[in-house]
Amino acid sequence: MILIKEDWELGVMRTAGRKLAEVVAGLRERVLVGASTLDIDRMTEDAILAAGAKPAFKGYKVGRAVFPATICVSINEQVVHGIPSKRRLQEGDLVSLDFGLVYGGYYADTAFSMAMPPVDEQTALLLDTTEKSLYEAVARARVNNRIGDIGHTVQSYCESRGLGVVTQFVGHGIGRKLHEEPSVPNFGKAGTGPLLKAGMVLALEPMITLGSPRTRILKDEWTVVTEDGSRAAHFEHTVAITPSGPEILTSLDPSPHIR
Ligand code: MG
Repeated sequence: MILIKEDWELGVMRTAGRKLAEVVAGLRERVLVGASTLDIDRMTEDAILAAGAKPAFKGYKVGRAVFPATICVSINEQVVHGIPSKRRLQEGDLVSLDFGLVYGGYYADTAFSMAMPPVDEQTALLLDTTEKSLYEAVARARVNNRIGDIGHTVQSYCESRGLGVVTQFVGHGIGRKLHEEPSVPNFGKAGTGPLLKAGMVLALEPMITLGSPRTRILKDEWTVVTEDGSRAAHFEHTVAITPSGPEILTSLDPSPHIR
């Protein structure tokens, strides 16, 4: 069932989202060549705890697999769900960071990708297109649109630029749980799927590749990589559908880039 949040619940989710956005802002300048992904995990966890919240992903279970860290960190051909390690970021790496927090019983979830200089042209195209496709998706998160309008927008925007749209992983509703109904695919047909209503909160998260969109999971049971080894990017915001339009909860600016 798709949950519609009460006003007071949206209030708590706004606070949770703002806390997460502040953690992201502090983190961006510390994701540098030479940093290990475990360093980045630790500083993120410290910042979440200092904000009076708890990491959302640590201990998260899928079947018998338990996610061991605060952040998912995915480098180059890794798409999502990479596990922090001693691996250090190198020049030219493309890194995606995905993490969430829970505050006052409500979840917020966000992701962004960035490249370590020097950035090649293809990687720049991938980053730019994936991020813009997220804001295209946000702009469709309006009362009386449908879930398919969001997916269709992401798919057509990215495919028109020659990029691959990952279909094996999707966005989701969010609230008292990290993952709620409905699923929010980054592909689909306009005008199809569940109707969007005021009070729904969605985690919109395009996962886009430079090559084939097909993915597989490594033996660690978490890390998702592209089958063809091409690079992938991932941007995500938690977005509330309000009577007056979409509100990005996980941004310090609630309506960036929305047309
Ligand atoms: Mg998510």
